[in-house]
Amino acid sequence: MPSFTMNITPREYFINRNRQKTGEHEIHVKECKTFPEPQNAIPLGVYNICSAAKEAAKRAYPNWEVDGCKNCLRECHTR
Ligand SMILES: [Zn+2]
Repeated sequence: MPSFTMNITPREYFINRNRQKTGEHEIHVKECKTFPEPQNAIPLGVYNICSAAKEAAKRAYPNWEVDGCKNCLRECHTR
């Protein structure tokens, strides 16, 4: 056990293979109530902040518009 307390917990992020009606692919964490079907959830890796997951998604899928889910990643939701 680490002897210090961290405010930020690394979490695993996923991106939906399917686009929203508005054209973007949404990024989620596992606890999300609108998490995509398992076969549509592509793992992005583990990050401390959702903006890092978003950057990773943009690098991995340069042709996709990506956005944070409005339910689980409100701080990264821009639409
Ligand atoms: Zn979500």
